[in-house]
Amino acid sequence: MRPSAIVDLWMYAVSYHRGLSKLRRLRALDQLERIAWGRGGLPTGRPHVPARTRPDRVTDIDRSLPPRRAPDGSTDPVSLTAAPPPKPRPAKKPTKKDGPSAEVVAVWEAEDGRCEACTRAMDRTCARVATVPPSSVPRLLCPDCTNHRPDPLTTAVVGPQTAQALAGALATTVEASAAWLVAGLRTYGVLLRLDGRRRRRRYWLPGVGAFTLFQAPASPPVVGGPLGKLRPHPTIRVKPQARTRGLPRLPQPDGAG
Ligand SMILES: [Zn+2]
Repeated sequence: MRPSAIVDLWMYAVSYHRGLSKLRRLRALDQLERIAWGRGGLPTGRPHVPARTRPDRVTDIDRSLPPRRAPDGSTDPVSLTAAPPPKPRPAKKPTKKDGPSAEVVAVWEAEDGRCEACTRAMDRTCARVATVPPSSVPRLLCPDCTNHRPDPLTTAVVGPQTAQALAGALATTVEASAAWLVAGLRTYGVLLRLDGRRRRRRYWLPGVGAFTLFQAPASPPVVGGPLGKLRPHPTIRVKPQARTRGLPRLPQPDGAG
């Protein structure tokens, strides 16, 4: 073989090897393109959805919502935070300002305001009603007979100022005017008001005036007043009982006059 032929063969071999390498590179590039474009060759156009939200993309609205707890049955978050239901208002209790009941007023009017035990006349606000077995008829009683207490006027004395003022109006002695006033109140005095807390009550002696009875403990009751100016020569105006049901008179408490 001629030397030139050897050189040509060598040159051909080199060029063949380069060409083969180039062909391999082209095949590898084609394979890379197929991988890059997917098996379908072209992109599908679907938007890119990240699998997880990045922390720097959580908005303030998202942070303001507290994480929710699943109810476990042991606690009720609503009852812990909600206001308690309003309590129902208790029924209004009757007060002294409400006055006596219709039943008491009816009995008081039927007996012309006189106690069916001691005959004490009284204002309707002082009236009491009770049934005395075996009868079921409501009877009108004064507070003293209701509580089985004697009439405090039976042991009452007249205060010195009251006795002095009355003696001047009656033109008599202090002792005589005091006796006259106590006897008049016992028989004709009308019980107007009771104030048990301050241990005082008020009586009205028709034709004379209104007086206060102070009931201090461990001492006899004292008549004070009068509430207002005494008229000269006062006279007790006796008003007979206008009406009654005519029932048998009830027994008076022990010690009552
Ligand atoms: Zn009575």
